[in-house]
Amino acid sequence: MAIYTCGHTTPDSDSICSAISLGYLLNKIGREAIPARQGPVSPETQFILDKFGFEAPLLKTQFAGEELFITDYSDKGQAPADIDQATVVGIVDHHKLGDITTSTPLECWIRPVGCTNTIVKEMYDYHGVEIPANIAGIMLCAILSDTVIFKSPTCTPIDMKIVKELAAIAGVNDFAALGMEMFKVKSAVDGVPVRELILRDYKPFDMHGSAVGIGQLEVIDLAIFDSIKDDLESDLEDLRAEKNLHTACLILTDIMKEGSEILVASVDNSVFEKAFDIELVDGKVWLDGCLSRKKQIIPFLEPAFA
Ligand code: MG
Ligand code: MG
Ligand code: MG
Repeated sequence: MAIYTCGHTTPDSDSICSAISLGYLLNKIGREAIPARQGPVSPETQFILDKFGFEAPLLKTQFAGEELFITDYSDKGQAPADIDQATVVGIVDHHKLGDITTSTPLECWIRPVGCTNTIVKEMYDYHGVEIPANIAGIMLCAILSDTVIFKSPTCTPIDMKIVKELAAIAGVNDFAALGMEMFKVKSAVDGVPVRELILRDYKPFDMHGSAVGIGQLEVIDLAIFDSIKDDLESDLEDLRAEKNLHTACLILTDIMKEGSEILVASVDNSVFEKAFDIELVDGKVWLDGCLSRKKQIIPFLEPAFA
């Protein structure tokens, strides 16, 4: 029986590229694997796939009766709806431990590094499997994306070391230039519907019984949002109401200024204000130095709901 390798809902580049890189590794060590994805491919991910000659993995949202090796998450909220009817044979991830449980033993590769593909590279080394140049290329791009070209506080020396190793394998001389090229693609938001932008890199969370949704857009200049910010704010409130969320946030990250403006729609703004010890002005605030949802937003917001 084939194992599906698959990342989280609303897949980002790490989720898609780790499904491919892990799938290749499993096949090499004699475990039949099929890379899959739970949703559409973002422009950034499409750029990566095109650059290194890959098709998008199989689009698949139902896994009942199947074997699943999860990549880049361990929260049920980001899993397929029928995950309880699937057999989770493994997890490779770099987030806080989520609430997925299993009824059978599984293999877990969970470490506090900047990217799931960093851990997948360590899995290749552990199994003594050589990484093909094109796979090294997509793994490299996923790490540059997740670590915001090493600027994110989630980035570790291990990520940097592995990026250099992967760049050598992929034949990429200037990985920082490749990273910037990728973030330029990511910054093209002209003409994209605001709802699509809010949901492009969106994650739902259960914070002590309160439903919270947090989207993030990482761009090279926040000025591109000036003309659509009002629309983003009103649609964020619409989304909050439609999904019956306590709070919906959109993190607008400026990767050059290294900070984020957070748009907040909430039934009670004081929860967010207490979490960050700030005052929201017109439902938003600039947080200097804030680049990471995982490390600089969730660990503060979640306890405020306790
Ligand atoms: Mg991810
Ligand atoms: Mg990741
Ligand atoms: Mg990310």
